[in-house]
Amino acid sequence: MASAEQPTVLVVEDEPAQREVVGYNLSAEGFRVVLAENGEEALVMVDEETPDIIVLDWMLPSVSGIEVCRRLKTRPDTRGIPIIMLSARSEEVDRIRGLETGADDYVVKPYSVLELMARVRAQLRRVRPAAAGQQLVFDDILLDAESHRVFRDEQPLKLGPTEFRLLATFMEKPGRVWSREQLLDRVWGRDIYVDTRTVDVHIGRLRKALCQHGGSDPVRTVRGAGYSLG
Ligand code: CA
Repeated sequence: MASAEQPTVLVVEDEPAQREVVGYNLSAEGFRVVLAENGEEALVMVDEETPDIIVLDWMLPSVSGIEVCRRLKTRPDTRGIPIIMLSARSEEVDRIRGLETGADDYVVKPYSVLELMARVRAQLRRVRPAAAGQQLVFDDILLDAESHRVFRDEQPLKLGPTEFRLLATFMEKPGRVWSREQLLDRVWGRDIYVDTRTVDVHIGRLRKALCQHGGSDPVRTVRGAGYSLG
């Protein structure tokens, strides 16, 4: 089973060999990879589980990559997912058209796998800084994703692994309200059955851990909606 901390990349490519190469390399980089063969399948998969990043081939049968990109970028719930377009078209006008559709980046085929991986990582740093191993700061709380350490007001905090993942999730998007189901997906993983009450238990532990040297409780309960930081 994939760890919930692993960022998910959806690869949409109709050519099996290319799909496999990209998927293989992303897995080797530590990503959880989900594969789609065409545009319709990609749109269904995004509805089932929001990926962190999408690598999207332009030339797909029936629903083209451009159309998939356009649809996802006009929907408020999917607009924020970075899309890297892959295209055999190298002309400047196509590049511009790709970016105008809302694609976040554009890679021309044949591309080097190293280049594609670098671009995926760049998008990841933007949308999932903790998953990319960066330091996150919120008020007096500092989370170092690489060393798995948390400090508040410069004092180290003792935190369980689940509480660490909860905090990292919150700190990646301060102010965002997370439902219990969303936190379960992100922190525990979709493949595990856990009661939503478990989330409340670990939120309680996180609050306690964050206040172990004093300070106010930064975790907000949003009635009927879930939890947020700040
Ligand atoms: Ca193609």
